[in-house]
Amino acid sequence: MVKEMTIIGAGPAGLTAGINLAKAGYKVVIYEREKDVGKKLNGDFQGLENWTSEEDVLESFKKMNININFPYSPVYSGEIYDSELNKTLIKSKKPVFYSIRRGSFKDTLDTGLKKQAEKEGVKIIYNKNIKNMKKKCIIAIGSQQADGIGIGITFNIKMKDKVIVIFDDNIAPKAYALDADVKAIIIASADSESPEAILDAAKGCPTSAITIIDSSGKQIFPK
Ligand SMILES: Cc1cc2nc3c(=O)[nH]c(=O)nc-3n(C[C@H](O)[C@H](O)[C@H](O)COP(=O)(O)OP(=O)(O)OC[C@H]3O[C@@H](n4cnc5c(N)ncnc54)[C@H](O)[C@@H]3O)c2cc1C
Repeated sequence: MVKEMTIIGAGPAGLTAGINLAKAGYKVVIYEREKDVGKKLNGDFQGLENWTSEEDVLESFKKMNININFPYSPVYSGEIYDSELNKTLIKSKKPVFYSIRRGSFKDTLDTGLKKQAEKEGVKIIYNKNIKNMKKKCIIAIGSQQADGIGIGITFNIKMKDKVIVIFDDNIAPKAYALDADVKAIIIASADSESPEAILDAAKGCPTSAITIIDSSGKQIFPK
C-alpha cells in the first residue's frame, strides 16, 4: 500500500516535512494558500540563528535531510547601540547567524526548499486555502496569532554590509522594548545623504515609527 500524507502550508516547516516524508517513501501533497512559496516574507532578509546550540545550524539542516541549495552569508560581528548611541562591538569565532533571503524568487530559502521537495516528487497545490481537512494531515500554517506587527522593507543603500542592533526605547521607540500597542517599527541605517530614499521606501508607515542612523551611528531622522 502506498503511504500518503497531506500537508497544509508550504513554508519552511511544511516543505521540510514534505521532503523527509517523500524520502521515506510517502506520496506527499502540500496545499498552499498563496500562488507560490515564500509570499509571506517576499524579499525580506532573515537570520538562521546560530547561537542557540553548539552545533552549526547548517549541520542541523543537513541532519534534517535539507541541502543547502540557497545562498547564505555568515555574520561574525555586529554593532549594538544603547540610548546614548554608545557602540558595543560583538564578535564571534563561530558565525552568530547566517543571513539568508526569503521569498518566491531565485536564491531564497523558500525556493531552495521548494526545489528539493519537487525533486523528491512532492506535489504542491497552490491557491488552496484549507480551512477544514477531514483526513489525517500535517498542519504547517505558521503562526496564526500576532504578538505584534512587523513590516520588512528592503531597499538599496551605499553602506557596506553590516549588522546593527539598536536596543532602547529612546532610539527605536516601541521596538525591542515591546509595548502592547506596537504598530510598526523601522530601524534603518544609511549614508547621511540618502535618508529621503529610506523615507520614500517606507511610505505608508507612520514617521513616528522610523529612526534612521548614518554609518557613523549618528541619528539623522528624526533630527
Ligand atoms: C518580520 C519577520 C521577521 C522574521 N525574522 C526571522 C529571522 O530573522 N530568523 C528566523 O529564524 N525567523 C524569523 N522569523 C520567523 C520565521 O519567518 C518563521 O518562524 C518561519 O517562517 C516559520 O515557518 P513555518 O513554515 O512554520 O510557517 P510560515 O513561514 O508562516 O509558512 C506557513 C505557510 O502556510 C501557508 N498557509 C497558512 N494558512 C494556510 C491555509 N489555511 N491553507 C493553506 N496554506 C496556508 C502560508 O501561506 C505559508 O506559506 C521572522 C518572522 C517575521 C514575521
